[in-house]
Amino acid sequence: MDLKRTHYMGNLNVSMKGQKVIIGGWVEDLRELGKLTFLTLRDVTGVAQIVIVGEDGIKQVKDLNRQSVVRVTGTVQDTKARDFPFEVKSEKIEILSRAVHPLPIDPIGRLESNIDNRLNARALDLRNQKTASIFKMRHHALQSIRKTLTELGFIEVNTPKIIGSASEGGANLFSLKYFDKQAYLAQSPQLYKEQLTVGLERVFEISSFYRAEKSHTVRHLTEFTSVDIEADFVDYLDVAEILETVVTNVFEYVEKNCIEEQKILGIEVKKPKTPFERVTYKQAIEELGLGLVEGDDLQDSHLRKLGEMHPGFYFLIDWPMKLKPFYIHEKEDNPSLSKSFDLQYGYLELSSGGRRLHDPNKIRARLTEQGLNPSQFEDHLKAFDWGMPPHSGWGLGLDRLMSVLTKIDNVREVVLYPRDPERLFP
Ligand code: ATP
Ligand code: MN
Repeated sequence: MDLKRTHYMGNLNVSMKGQKVIIGGWVEDLRELGKLTFLTLRDVTGVAQIVIVGEDGIKQVKDLNRQSVVRVTGTVQDTKARDFPFEVKSEKIEILSRAVHPLPIDPIGRLESNIDNRLNARALDLRNQKTASIFKMRHHALQSIRKTLTELGFIEVNTPKIIGSASEGGANLFSLKYFDKQAYLAQSPQLYKEQLTVGLERVFEISSFYRAEKSHTVRHLTEFTSVDIEADFVDYLDVAEILETVVTNVFEYVEKNCIEEQKILGIEVKKPKTPFERVTYKQAIEELGLGLVEGDDLQDSHLRKLGEMHPGFYFLIDWPMKLKPFYIHEKEDNPSLSKSFDLQYGYLELSSGGRRLHDPNKIRARLTEQGLNPSQFEDHLKAFDWGMPPHSGWGLGLDRLMSVLTKIDNVREVVLYPRDPERLFP
């Protein structure tokens, strides 16, 4: 059975009048007007109007439900329709797949469906052009990230997601049975990417990671996509600059490559102004004026208030050591502070990064200080005796970046099949 199409809808145009085409897609609308039946047919690139003339064809589609899949062989011709510059007169119509009626959601979006119903019918929800546009933009964002990092000399790697010991301490880890052993799902590639600087110097990974946190917010998922880098011979502000380049390039690339998608979503993507502002943790607690003292963590309410004062992108730098994980390097001129940064968009944390310790004895001391057992990290620490270069890196939440890019608050909207404490299906 021949299934091929000669054209996508997006490749048809008015100058093709008289040309024979084979197209295929989903029936978005079906109107009978006397001796004619009009179909609106959509594929991933666009829509076209099909006109069916003659009893046989009309009978064929008479009880055809919307979102059924058809293949049409026909000829491009003039149209009287206001919404279409041309139409395709059907000579042969093949029904390839029938959709049920009623569908669980209206994928055209004429009837708004709530997010739970849409997520329960996600594949169908992608027939909604707004939803499809989000994921086309996500594709372009990923393209841009890979392009930028490759141009900067980074090598893309894949590290294990099934791990035998807790990489950054035990909290937040999903555990799983691994035959007769205990294993965990990786919460980040932190230790692996650091080790990989020994051999590859500059690495990046784009992957799912897992956090067993019962967070019910619009920015937390139990499975999220992280963009991680690690680079040697550079300090924390150098990798912050790389992050700034990666993020601004995403905006520029999506602005250029997703013109139709921006229209459909009713947004304008613009390259943000650089350099991003740098606010020290010390400045931040002073600006907040809430009597916070060095070492106090910034709670959600604090970040909301800071976000009002700094509505766009900014770096929050030089956090106290005691708020940072064991692998973070102290500031040489003030060892109670760390060489670290968060990239914020208003209240929203998009990324955390910093300079890492590369002296294994310092790491052992920090592990002990934080109540962790250095002997459980010996597999990792071995690599620090094999010529570990000084290195820095960051992890960027792709889902949160997509939510900023698309101006949609809930990360569930920008993830195809989100996982949260309540949602494990589909
Ligand atoms: P938060 O304080 O917002 O929970 P975090 O500081 O625990 O985040 P990091 O360990 O710094 O997160 O991870 C790096 C980045 O990965 C974060 O800045 C964020 O963009 C993203 N990220 C982390 N956890 C999640 C999550 N549960 N859901 C979605 N994105 C996440
Ligand atoms: Mn963080």
